[in-house]
Amino acid sequence: MKIGALKESFEGEARVAITPSSAGHLMKLGHQVFVESGAGARAGFSDDSYRAVGITVVPTAADLIASVDVVAKVRQPSEGEIGQMREGQTLISFFYPSQNAEMLALAKEQGITAIAMDMVPRISRAQKMDALSSMANIAGYRAVIEAANNFGRFFTGQVTAAGKVPPAKVLVVGAGVAGLASIGTAVSLGAQVCAFDVRPEVAEQIESMGAEFVYLDFEEAQDGAATGGYAAPSSPEFREKQLAKFRELAPQMDVVITTALIPGRDAPKLWTRDMVEAMKPGSVIVDLAAERGGNCELTIPDERHVTENGVTIIGYTDFPSRMGAQASELYGNNVRHFVADLTPKKDGVVFHNMEDDVIRGATVTRDHDITWPPPPPKIA
Ligand code: NAD
Repeated sequence: MKIGALKESFEGEARVAITPSSAGHLMKLGHQVFVESGAGARAGFSDDSYRAVGITVVPTAADLIASVDVVAKVRQPSEGEIGQMREGQTLISFFYPSQNAEMLALAKEQGITAIAMDMVPRISRAQKMDALSSMANIAGYRAVIEAANNFGRFFTGQVTAAGKVPPAKVLVVGAGVAGLASIGTAVSLGAQVCAFDVRPEVAEQIESMGAEFVYLDFEEAQDGAATGGYAAPSSPEFREKQLAKFRELAPQMDVVITTALIPGRDAPKLWTRDMVEAMKPGSVIVDLAAERGGNCELTIPDERHVTENGVTIIGYTDFPSRMGAQASELYGNNVRHFVADLTPKKDGVVFHNMEDDVIRGATVTRDHDITWPPPPPKIA
């Protein structure tokens, strides 16, 4: 088959879905690989670097779509992109079908097979294709780097001839994939890190990384686990306890990184105006939930601003794109692993096996049908 990566049309997006290295793996599966000219430029992959490994570079998006059987991209597709695709062609990209009914309907109408990388089931076998996790890991890392860059002090404690410096105190709210990456990064920079999650099972993970788990004085234990390892909304009593704890911690913290999300809902508001006002000047909040409205009441999505009391609040929503080379490398690997499952005989022939849990789970349209939501996966 012929597989190609489009240049991302979303303004400022630096990632690309196929890198020279992932293309090598796709070719070993028997596929011919194409890219649109300039597709990798912002991630540091020139057209020549693709040509050097035997990839065909075509001038425009229209040429790319016309040349291939499988179109790969990162961001969810635009109307123009789906509109140019033809019946029977496959699209691999993030799609977010629950928030994207119009594109789903258009993909169905065009008769394309749409594979949503965000719908890859989060089961052990599919971890290598789990682009939500690979991107969350980058976001968690980058959040700490942004925080450190905006914090006018060391993260690590030091005793120097010029004076003793205490370690920065970092609180991470939400210890899913992104939160754990933030904890690991902040600990490795020498900060004193504590973290909170509504799912009590993460306490051990947090502690094993050298951070402290924030326990609440709550009789029913931290009760937030729902199905599939995700969180459920907290009870009002639990939420009150949580906010009281955060109020107590706010004046002590130098950096707060919030990552708390509940599937299918707006981000819970956990860091309130009065908590921001209680923080020291020079403190930094990085709100990784900004895209879903933010965990902090004062977050402005896509912006960095400084409050009257001198707290920097960062609400960027493009952290993986800010590390375009790394994010493309990992997303490119997620995509090529998915394509490997679509090419079981490694003979360049795609077998779209709808009996396979992972392929079925990620396929959101096929044969003029909307195939989302999928039935629950058989293997846990
Ligand atoms: P997510 O992005 O949906 O949420 C981030 C975190 O916020 C979660 O840990 C959640 O518990 C927490 N949260 C929600 N409400 C909160 C609140 N009020 N206060 C504090 N924290 C709150 O989650 P995610 O990072 O996508 O991962 C969720 C789970 O899925 C994790 O258990 C993860 O280990 C699991 N997972 C499994 C696989 C796999 O098996 N292949 C892959 C990825 C993730």
